[in-house]
Amino acid sequence: MVAKTTAQGTDQGKDSGDDDMTYTYDLIVIGGGPAGYLAAERAGEAGLSVALFEKRALGGVCLNEGCIPTKTFLNSAKIYAHALHGERYGVVASGISLDHAAVLRRKAKVVETLVGGVGFKMREKGVTVVKEAAKIGGKTGEGFLVKGGETEAVAPKLIIAAGSKPIIPPIPGVADGLDAGYVYTSREILDIDHIPDSLVIVGGGVIGLEMADYFAVAGSKVTVIEMLDKIAGPFDAEIARILKKNLEAKGVMFLLGTKVTEVTRGGVKAETGGEAVTVEGDAVLMSIGRRPAPEDMGLEKINVLVENGAVVTGKHMQTNISGVYAAGDINGKFMLAHTAYREAEVAVNHILGKPDEMRYDAIPSVIYTQPEAAFVGDTEESAAAKGLRVVVKKLPLTYSGRYVSENERGDGICKTLIDEGTGRVVGVSLIGGYASEIILSASILTGLGVPAEQAKRVVFPHPTVGEIVRETLFV
Ligand SMILES: Cc1cc2nc3c(=O)[nH]c(=O)nc-3n(C[C@H](O)[C@H](O)[C@H](O)COP(=O)(O)OP(=O)(O)OC[C@H]3O[C@@H](n4cnc5c(N)ncnc54)[C@H](O)[C@@H]3O)c2cc1C
Repeated sequence: MVAKTTAQGTDQGKDSGDDDMTYTYDLIVIGGGPAGYLAAERAGEAGLSVALFEKRALGGVCLNEGCIPTKTFLNSAKIYAHALHGERYGVVASGISLDHAAVLRRKAKVVETLVGGVGFKMREKGVTVVKEAAKIGGKTGEGFLVKGGETEAVAPKLIIAAGSKPIIPPIPGVADGLDAGYVYTSREILDIDHIPDSLVIVGGGVIGLEMADYFAVAGSKVTVIEMLDKIAGPFDAEIARILKKNLEAKGVMFLLGTKVTEVTRGGVKAETGGEAVTVEGDAVLMSIGRRPAPEDMGLEKINVLVENGAVVTGKHMQTNISGVYAAGDINGKFMLAHTAYREAEVAVNHILGKPDEMRYDAIPSVIYTQPEAAFVGDTEESAAAKGLRVVVKKLPLTYSGRYVSENERGDGICKTLIDEGTGRVVGVSLIGGYASEIILSASILTGLGVPAEQAKRVVFPHPTVGEIVRETLFV
């Protein structure tokens, strides 16, 4: 016999004991990353009873092995680089070094604090956290049946937020290298206990570039190999060139238009313009992208549609099955933590019957290197590709007094795109210190489709580097 009860605000785990119990909830969430924990938090806040299944650690990739660990690494690199070049600003110091072991310890502490904060939120909102891998068992009259360890739960609504995994390409030598420990994904390299003398990074996207910055500043001889003829994926081409120059100045070498054909202990073999090249490296980081991870959780038991490896979702984040939603990397749309947050909110609002829908046209992207690069909305290239006629308003960041006072020889730029037809701001791209913060104002202008003439009437604080966004409107 299956006993039924509702449990709220507790931790269910291996030791919870109740083999025969099926707990009933209003909502079950699978995955405790940004999408999952925010969905649980918002739903709990609204008074729903929620069970959240997480098989590894609350906070998901973002808190444990993504956004946050990389940013603690990069902050240490930034402070170290500032200290090394302090004489440019009248600050003279000696005996400066970067202690990677201390960086790792600090990263662990930051992660622990933030993961603890998510746990606190879950308790505060009455969410039951089940620390087990969830498997969907099917659908009963009461809803979707999900099992994790000894815990069985049922709910009429289900949010799939199981995230993504690094893509491991079938390049000869990669699997062996991962087993042997000289090939890394972003997960393992964030725990590496030494700075390799030389590091080959396969993939010149956001993760590869952020790692290149940290390891180059920390003392590795870094080579980035990118198959395309530009780094930084969808970023504005001019900004990508400026970023490349800045990373080269830190010693990073780039091989563009180059395809890795084999990974061996001691480096990689590659092909560029029909020529074979060998790049030496003590360690190899594979960072060619991530893919949704919809496997092993029983989605087929309830016939959730998965296409090209991603769970298919609509504008309310609903899947093809009524009552089942998918938020975050699992739907493969825009694999960023802030997209995951917003998608989670949209899913919960739909469950609560509140009008809301997901938009993907103003999601900001940031590379947290020094200098930082960021964009939101269209770039010149994406506008041209869709035949959108735009006016490009561009300024060097040296137009900003604050930027000049804080940057010797800075080469940052800001480009604002105005739709020729509507006069609205449709995109902003920039590179320079604080770009990750400055893009906030640009996201509001772009996300709300504010007409440039109206945006000119908004007062920005002075002296800030962010004033540049407003200034570009007057070009
Ligand atoms: C190195 C790196 C740096 C990044 N930097 C940034 C950044 O600066 N900014 C940004 O916006 N994004 C960044 N990202 C991307 C960001 O981490 C992801 O977009 C975000 O974590 C997605 O959130 P999610 O909730 O969809 O999935 P995840 O964070 O992947 O969480 C999914 C969770 O589900 C759990 N899970 C999976 N299957 C099950 C199951 N069957 N049962 C129970 N639990 C399960 C997993 O253990 C995981 O904890 C970075 C990623 C990496 C790898």
